[in-house]
Amino acid sequence: GQTNAALLKRREAAVPRGVASAAPMFADYAENSEIWDVEGNRYIDFAGGIAVLNTGHRHPSVIAAAKAQEDRYTHTSFQVVQYEPYVALAEKLNALAPGDHPKKSLLVTTGAEAVENAVKIARAATGRPGVIAFTGGYHGRTLLTLGMTGKISPYKKDVGPFPSDIFRAPFPNVRDGITVEDALTGLQNLFLTDAQPERVAAIIIEPVLGEGGYVPVPFEMMHALREICDQHGIMLIADEIQAGFGRTGTWFACEHSGVVPDLITVAKSMAGGYPIAGVIGRADVMDAMIPGGLGGTYGGNPVACAAALAAIEAIEAENLLERSAEMGAHFRTRFAEIGARTAPYRMWDIRGLGAMLAVEFVTDFDTAKPDAALTKAICAHALKRGLILLACGMHGNALRIMVPLTASDALIEEGLAIFEAALADAVS
Ligand code: PMP
Repeated sequence: GQTNAALLKRREAAVPRGVASAAPMFADYAENSEIWDVEGNRYIDFAGGIAVLNTGHRHPSVIAAAKAQEDRYTHTSFQVVQYEPYVALAEKLNALAPGDHPKKSLLVTTGAEAVENAVKIARAATGRPGVIAFTGGYHGRTLLTLGMTGKISPYKKDVGPFPSDIFRAPFPNVRDGITVEDALTGLQNLFLTDAQPERVAAIIIEPVLGEGGYVPVPFEMMHALREICDQHGIMLIADEIQAGFGRTGTWFACEHSGVVPDLITVAKSMAGGYPIAGVIGRADVMDAMIPGGLGGTYGGNPVACAAALAAIEAIEAENLLERSAEMGAHFRTRFAEIGARTAPYRMWDIRGLGAMLAVEFVTDFDTAKPDAALTKAICAHALKRGLILLACGMHGNALRIMVPLTASDALIEEGLAIFEAALADAVS
């Protein structure tokens, strides 16, 4: 049989190091919240393929829908011969997204592509160039989205220049001493210094900062952004690529605040493991681009559309929104218990929305300085014990929970026990 070591050697020779992998093993088989590697080792998966698997690995109805679609056609390009699953998914997304206004949806393949298209649509609709994004935001690795992504290393290192007319406002993160008031002052200063508001097409924000550390945007900030956008005719874009499809206990994280964005970008858990993404928005705004201006060969692939429709149905049928809220509450309780058990673990600031949860590790409780090395060690020890954990945050010291919402209580407990043991390993 194959070994991880032999595959790793081949990978190192054949694949650029820029594609970094969190775990040194190779997958053989996966089911719901577990992965087995090529050597037969079993892992509990708290990473869910980076927040893609709210419905778990190979959800039976997702797989069945994809297989049924594969038996009919797998690709025609929607721009050549149309197919119903694209339209059905667009209808579903339009119905699920917040707001009473008429909506339309564009389907693409990746999250970055969705963000790029949201910007194009906002520019075409407003006739303006400017885009405002936030510190610590993550919107993708293509060049436009990198310009919007608010973290240099590793994403933006050595690959500039970035597109012009992209501006950055401070993200309201109390952890870093930035209040909503500070953030809004920063935005108003940006309007005074660099970004003429009448020349700004869009403000884009993740309702829960994802790669930047699972920090929810305070609701009053979301409301203030809505007001500012209305005042200046700016499109408000919610990037729900990581937070959407039940992760936070609602279909879209922005629903918690009650704020209705003009455009929403979606991907990841929308299709339970198949590559598809989209932009949902106000019908008039979505129609701003002329025919032929939107699309891409693979956009809205029919197999991925079928998978997405089944994944959305599974979220509904299995009450995964309620499950997310309940799971989030459980993790909070258990993290607090584990953190209290012994101080050397140095767990800090359990935060998030629903099951989109993270916890930080710090060097000491007085200064609360981020401890990326400890966080890395915890992930490594967890992996050795059979638990896949992923870090995030501007300083790499937050651990985020992306376990499938379909995971059983027993499996989560098993994972948490490994987590606690890995903490002990890492501080000993
Ligand atoms: N936006 C957000 C909020 C994300 O979390 C991600 C992916 N981590 C992206 C955009 C980019 O998506 P993709 O990797 O599919 O291009």
